[in-house]
Amino acid sequence: MTAPVNAELSASLDAARQDYAALLDKKLKLDLTRGKPSAQQVSLADALLALPGDEFKAADGTDTRNYGGQQGLPELRAIFAEALQVPASQLLALGNSSLELMHDAVVFAQMYQLPGGQRRWSNEERIAFLCPVPGYDRHFTICERFGIEMIPVPMTADGPDVAEVERLVAADPGIKGIWCVPKYSNPDGTTYSDETVRRLATMQTAADDFRIFWDNAYAVHHLTDEEVQVGDILAACAEAGNPDRAFIFGSTSKITLAGAGVAFFGSSEANVKWMLHCAAARTIGPDKINHLRHALFLKDYDGVRAHMRKHRELIGPKFDAVLRIFDEQLKDIATWSHPKGGYFITLNVPDGCAKEIVRKAAEAGIALTPAGSTHPYMDDPEDRVIRIAPTFPSLADIEEAIAGVATCVRLVAYQKLTS
Ligand code: PMP
Repeated sequence: MTAPVNAELSASLDAARQDYAALLDKKLKLDLTRGKPSAQQVSLADALLALPGDEFKAADGTDTRNYGGQQGLPELRAIFAEALQVPASQLLALGNSSLELMHDAVVFAQMYQLPGGQRRWSNEERIAFLCPVPGYDRHFTICERFGIEMIPVPMTADGPDVAEVERLVAADPGIKGIWCVPKYSNPDGTTYSDETVRRLATMQTAADDFRIFWDNAYAVHHLTDEEVQVGDILAACAEAGNPDRAFIFGSTSKITLAGAGVAFFGSSEANVKWMLHCAAARTIGPDKINHLRHALFLKDYDGVRAHMRKHRELIGPKFDAVLRIFDEQLKDIATWSHPKGGYFITLNVPDGCAKEIVRKAAEAGIALTPAGSTHPYMDDPEDRVIRIAPTFPSLADIEEAIAGVATCVRLVAYQKLTS
């Protein structure tokens, strides 16, 4: 026998139905899907378009117009060494996309044996990666493209469930890597605790060429006065006697120009040598003119921090608006993250509702990241997680879109509760 529908719930459903009908009437066309910077944000770096001007010599006299300089411009590597916690001598400044470097690192590991490994990954019977969930869909796409099995591991307030990670990697030599967004993670904004960092660095792995893909995409992307720090994974790995365990990635995509920034790879000396050897077959060197213009524009790490405060001024109110509207409308039926940085808010709706909410929002002209994309194989077993990306639309559009999303959440949740 089903429980009698309580009058309050059914009144809430009626109200949600009316709000949804009004929402449809608005014929909105709004997009909250990808974590892109807004035009105002990229405009903060417009000065780059005129740089390096007539200047083409690097600090050491290198002619940036010419081939060579495979490690990238030293002055730019020095600026990002502190932010990415990699000594400048072990940090490479390369192309415009860190995702490309992660992709390449996976492909190179298939083709060329990694330091510490016995054979290249393509000669292994099976390769698997641990995927903390919720996570970043493009990491999962890389795995899918190359037939790498994905094993989800739940995120906690301290980062991935590290006891589970330890258990899995100790037992299974097929597990060769883990995807980590250690600071202000995509999508739930979590920063790994020092204890998590220490245990990832020290844990026993059955694979001797296990790698942590440390995607520090949001290293300097603060939303509060607190500039949250994450433990130094490279140093922790070296101290633990696992110097080659971590691959560090980062970029200026969400600092300067998303499509024309600079990406970085950092690691142990052995891994950097391996990466340079692999990369030498595909390029005669990176775009050093872009490196030079970035070095001239950002000047030093304090310059990066000052620039990021301008981003915060633009996007902080958008995050605040999302949190305020959720607070006003969804307190009783959903939970959400309160990120101190990064690009996303994770909305956790009642189990079994996420797909339907995204569908209802689409019908009302509000595009949300497809439900499931935060999980490997698009499979969110609880059908619960929705990723909200508030940076790109205007504040007015965000307010309109989020109010619409809240209506869809109420409609679908109350429908479920009363069915
Ligand atoms: N990593 C994470 C976690 C991201 O969220 C993004 C962008 N959405 C990227 C990497 C892409 O970085 P890039 O532009 O340097 O390729």
